[in-house]
Amino acid sequence: MSDYDIAVIGGGLAGLSLLYHLERAGKLAGQRVLLVDPERKEGHDRTWSYWDRGEGPFEELVHYRWNQVMLDNGEVRCSCALRPYAYKLILSSDFYAHVNAIIDRLPQVERRFTTADQFLPGPERVHFRMQGEAYTATHLFSSLPHPLDYREVNQPYLDQHFRGWFVETEADTFDPETATMMDFRTPQEGETRFFYVLPFSKRRALVEIAIFSNHHLTTEGYDELIRQYLHDHWTREGYRITHTEAGNIPMTTYTYPRRRGNLIYIGLGGGAARPSTGYTFHGLQRQLARVARDFPVIRDTRVWPERHLLYDATLLRILQEGKLPGDLLFVNLFRDNPPARVLAFLNGESTLWQEMRLMATTPVGVFGTTFVRELL
Ligand SMILES: Cc1cc2nc3c(=O)[nH]c(=O)nc-3n(C[C@H](O)[C@H](O)[C@H](O)COP(=O)(O)OP(=O)(O)OC[C@H]3O[C@@H](n4cnc5c(N)ncnc54)[C@H](O)[C@@H]3O)c2cc1C
Repeated sequence: MSDYDIAVIGGGLAGLSLLYHLERAGKLAGQRVLLVDPERKEGHDRTWSYWDRGEGPFEELVHYRWNQVMLDNGEVRCSCALRPYAYKLILSSDFYAHVNAIIDRLPQVERRFTTADQFLPGPERVHFRMQGEAYTATHLFSSLPHPLDYREVNQPYLDQHFRGWFVETEADTFDPETATMMDFRTPQEGETRFFYVLPFSKRRALVEIAIFSNHHLTTEGYDELIRQYLHDHWTREGYRITHTEAGNIPMTTYTYPRRRGNLIYIGLGGGAARPSTGYTFHGLQRQLARVARDFPVIRDTRVWPERHLLYDATLLRILQEGKLPGDLLFVNLFRDNPPARVLAFLNGESTLWQEMRLMATTPVGVFGTTFVRELL
């Protein structure tokens, strides 16, 4: 049997970020550390966008940032200056290269390119298996997926399924100063469907459709919607697709397991996605920086404040039951509030006073009754 001080299972965003924060907090010195993932993550397999104020821990990796965003639902178009926030984008390839290089320089970290499973927390140590062999760790952090079936979840649940094209157009098409955060000008089909358009120059952008629903499309289905949207709203000239990405983020207030003794669940499998938006990157960094600061004491593993989960349950339930259309809800939120208030709220860093003012701008009857229902 082999023993570690810290075992990190999964070397994607959460696992790598945790090691990064532990190293920065000086908590890896003298520790025997294990990092397990079947692969060394390297490629551009996802693109992380998020907003924050000031400089975050990965500022030098930010590929592009926007100070202005646009939302449009065909009736209302709102253009918002984000200061003091900025909308930022990091390519996973840059993130993996940067953090893997830091980890490679740490002799105390042993990497194993395999899977680990059968985590069993004991009174002193967490037991687990790799390739059939038994191991233990004082602390085990798992970022393994936690698959959910929406039909078996009592809490509100919507998938956010999406597909994006990185395009290069033949003519000047985009405004590189403005990110389109939510453009609902696509048939809604009784769901919440919108596009992001994140431009890197007048001719290069990420154009991505996101759908909040539990019914996924085929790849051709998403592609047809993107093609139509580009044609209707951006360009009728030629363009080429240089890269694509796709994924799914469960949006739910389901109570993910967060901790069993010194077995700690992190990442999407530990409920790191903000239930009402699917955004994960920023909240995850905040959580893991705090966990690293407190380590080896594990104090607080929450990603989102408790009362925000209640707001999210309300919003998700309204969307899931179709009580209000998503396009109206999100665009009006930005139209009727200063953007910084909305962004602080969505990042889980707003004050109660800001939240009350924000709630007052929503259709109070629907929100009020749904809120009470979720509370009960
Ligand atoms: C295409 C895409 C775009 C996204 N865009 C955004 C965005 O713009 N903003 C945002 O905030 N969030 C975004 N997300 C959501 C979220 O930030 C990412 O999914 C993020 O990668 C989640 O981190 P994670 O560590 O939980 O999972 P992952 O990064 O997927 O890492 C999990 C790791 O566990 C490994 N693993 C699995 N099973 C085992 C096992 N048994 N043993 C050992 N290792 C195992 C996997 O190989 C993987 O490397 C996006 C997601 C996708 C897929």
